[in-house]
Amino acid sequence: MAKKTIALIAHDNMKPRIIEWCKENREILAHHFLCGTGTTARLVAENTGLEVKAYKSGPLGGDQQIGSRIADGKIDIVIFFSDPLTAQPHDPDVKALLRIAQVYDIPIANNRSTANYIIHSDLFIPEE
Ligand code: PGA
Repeated sequence: MAKKTIALIAHDNMKPRIIEWCKENREILAHHFLCGTGTTARLVAENTGLEVKAYKSGPLGGDQQIGSRIADGKIDIVIFFSDPLTAQPHDPDVKALLRIAQVYDIPIANNRSTANYIIHSDLFIPEE
């Protein structure tokens, strides 16, 4: 199976949800390369046992690092549980990440339903 590189990001209030989602989909995620913003990556790794490469924490540039990897063609999918109810100090970085994902036609899920559609899509696992 072709491995995908999946970036995981969640704002603070949404971290329990991304951990829960990763636990539910652990078997699938274990077949792929995972990375994420610093705190999200650490918490997912600690709570699921999955290996997750950590970039810097989001407010310290992690979203920009992931955006840069997208521009380099190194990330296939982004799971980004952003918080719709809380202002973020790094809102410009969040917008930049959404924009660059759009530019490079990268699937980006901002909630659980979309994340499920992506990883259960026929397009997720290309025919061999
Ligand atoms: P964090 O960053 O995973 O380091 O908390 C996420 C974000 O706020 O973008």
